[in-house]
Amino acid sequence: MTSENTAPTAVEATPAAELAGVRAIVTGGASGIGAAIVRGMLARGAQVTSIDRVTEGVPLGAGAQVADVTDDAAVRAAVTAAAEAMGGIDVVANNAGIGAQGTVADNDDAEWLRVLDVNVLGIVRVTRAALPYLRESQHAAVVNTCSIAAWTGLPNRAVYSASKGAVQALTLAMAADHVSEGIRVNCVNPGTADTPWVSRLLDVADDPAAERAALEARQPSGRLVSADEVAHAVCYLASPLAAATTGAMLAVDGGSHSLRTRAP
Ligand code: NAD
Repeated sequence: MTSENTAPTAVEATPAAELAGVRAIVTGGASGIGAAIVRGMLARGAQVTSIDRVTEGVPLGAGAQVADVTDDAAVRAAVTAAAEAMGGIDVVANNAGIGAQGTVADNDDAEWLRVLDVNVLGIVRVTRAALPYLRESQHAAVVNTCSIAAWTGLPNRAVYSASKGAVQALTLAMAADHVSEGIRVNCVNPGTADTPWVSRLLDVADDPAAERAALEARQPSGRLVSADEVAHAVCYLASPLAAATTGAMLAVDGGSHSLRTRAP
């Protein structure tokens, strides 16, 4: 891959204060896409609190609550503490998620329940705890991190693909349920994004550099998506600029779910 035929990366731009006055919670804010969402929201003027199993990695300037999204009591305590610290909650970015490999033949019920508990029920628990605050907000928005796996399915990722399909349908159901309350609900569907998650997968390959090159070559754009590029989309959907958008699924994937071939 040469620089001449690589699709352009996002321009280096200074975000405007699109989220000034907004109070946001971001799950999984300690790593990868979640940390990029935290940074992006702070840069746009928001107050932000991460809710994650860990605090290390949460960008400076954000609050950090420790909770596992599979623990309902811990989630309720973290959301309450975040709301008290920020004076309310306007935006929820449900981003925490885990992967799993295997076909339906490989994964037992316990593995299915483990992944669905984080990727689907985690969104339910956090949003349920935040709803009383969102109802008080003048510009409430929920943005869920889904995946192109919801559209395409991914080979050897049965439970992960099913969990993201559920996130997509949940996004639509929540959008319908809360539109009359002025709460918008959307999702972003990233393609393969260059985060610690992907690095962990590549690191166990026989030849990580060759595996990365093959992964990039499979993308129509010829490169992976950056965490910041996903975060830009989340910030847009969370902002008043997207006031007319609810129930949307925004691909941030370099064309990989919709284009069958690479651009010349
Ligand atoms: P990551 O592993 O770099 O970060 C995930 C973060 O979520 C970590 O900080 C982790 O501690 C936190 N987390 C995980 N389980 C948790 C739990 N039970 N409770 C609280 N926090 C928990 O991953 P990433 O690549 O940044 O992925 C973030 C989201 O993006 C996930 O929902 C993932 O499915 C989605 N996504 C990622 C890609 C990709 O290629 N990286 C592509 C599409 C969608």
